[in-house]
Amino acid sequence: MPRPMLSRLLARLEKEEVIECEVEAARDSLTKSFSRKLHLTTTLWVPLRKGSEIIGMQSASHRGAKRFSRRHKRIARGISQIASLALGKAKLFEELGRANRLKEDFVNSMSHEIRTPLNIIMGYNELLREGAFGALTAEQIHALQRIDKSAEELLDLVNATLGFSRLQSQRSPVSVGEVRVAEILAELEVDAHHLNRKSSVRLEWQLTPALPSLHTDPVKLKMVLKNLITNALKFTEEGVITVAALPQGSGIEFHVSDTGIGIAPEALPIIFEPFRQVDSSPMRRHGGVRLGLYFVRQLLNLLGGTVSVESMLGKGSTFRVWLPLHPRQ
Ligand code: ADP
Repeated sequence: MPRPMLSRLLARLEKEEVIECEVEAARDSLTKSFSRKLHLTTTLWVPLRKGSEIIGMQSASHRGAKRFSRRHKRIARGISQIASLALGKAKLFEELGRANRLKEDFVNSMSHEIRTPLNIIMGYNELLREGAFGALTAEQIHALQRIDKSAEELLDLVNATLGFSRLQSQRSPVSVGEVRVAEILAELEVDAHHLNRKSSVRLEWQLTPALPSLHTDPVKLKMVLKNLITNALKFTEEGVITVAALPQGSGIEFHVSDTGIGIAPEALPIIFEPFRQVDSSPMRRHGGVRLGLYFVRQLLNLLGGTVSVESMLGKGSTFRVWLPLHPRQ
């Protein structure tokens, strides 16, 4: 649209809600030649607004002798109001997206910045405990162990925050490879052995022989199972934790069962949600970020798998993870 015509129209739309222009009645030649080119006889203009500011226009034209009725004008006004609203919402959405990206970048860089000094603290703590700087009394060792425990909790929190932010921003690409289940379980066995600090809890590994290979992301699968085993260890004071793998349909099912405190029926629907507090005293006793099971479910969504749980208060819980042999295309 020629610039002079546009500014005249905008000036009129500041005052009028709907403008109807007859091409032949137009005073300036620019408007006339522009409309004639398109064979227009009558044009209706309505403003698109953001608040009181005009941010666009909407037009409708007739090519024959027909005129616009009052009803047409009312409809045009209605459409422009709805369009203005939609444009406003889209803009808000864009601003929200930008704010969200800023928040993610902040969380990512903060998590990295915290992790580095924390690892150094833990490293020196270990050296001290091992006597690298001289012999220590039992009391000093005990104090260093407490520092280490808190540092580990802080590291878990930072790692969980980082993982949460990555999952939220979909910056967690799936890298599929051939996975031998026996190897994954053997690696987990070593990790779990280090994590288990209770002599009253035994770990059992059951592997159906000759399981087919899985085609999945081994790192993510390991994260899923490690989360479940860590929870089983956390919520079991005595008894057995069993980790099993068996064929199931067109995939493989993993079980992580424990003889721990169990989960109340009313808590079962919310344990996979992020940051939800399960409101019962024994569970409150164990700190925790409340992101572990949320990660498990999100990671399995990425891998095309599922997770379910069965539990009885005071008896124990069984978490079942199923993964297809091949990922969906
Ligand atoms: P966190 O362990 O940090 O609290 P999770 O998301 O891993 O967060 O678990 C959520 C909640 O589910 C836990 O706080 C606990 O109440 C319950 N839960 C998970 N695993 C078990 C388990 N094996 N036995 C009993 N309760 C469990």
